[in-house]
Amino acid sequence: MKSSRRTFLITSIGVASTLALSRQAAFADAPKVTEADPTAQALGYKEDAAKVDKAKWAKYAAGQDCGNCSFYQGKAGDAWAPCPMFGGKQVSSKGWCSAYNKKA
Ligand code: SF4
Repeated sequence: MKSSRRTFLITSIGVASTLALSRQAAFADAPKVTEADPTAQALGYKEDAAKVDKAKWAKYAAGQDCGNCSFYQGKAGDAWAPCPMFGGKQVSSKGWCSAYNKKA
């Protein structure tokens, strides 16, 4: 491997991991989604899945919550974590919205 290519690769890896770290830091500081948020209203997001309007959101089934949704970006046990449906704002692990997709 030519040294300029190696240098490029090493630099790229460094930049990528720095970006990953700063994204992590941004996540921790990301604001929490409120139920008044227009996206939350459009998606029927509730901070407590038990309060989902079941008449309006027939697809909701007991046991579904952000913590077991494939979009939830937290680890098991994280009370809040970012969700891409809300531009990376944090949602409650006990919450739910109509974009719910069961984690495989
Ligand atoms: Fe929660 Fe999933 Fe909806 Fe995001 S997409 S708010 S993690 S149910």
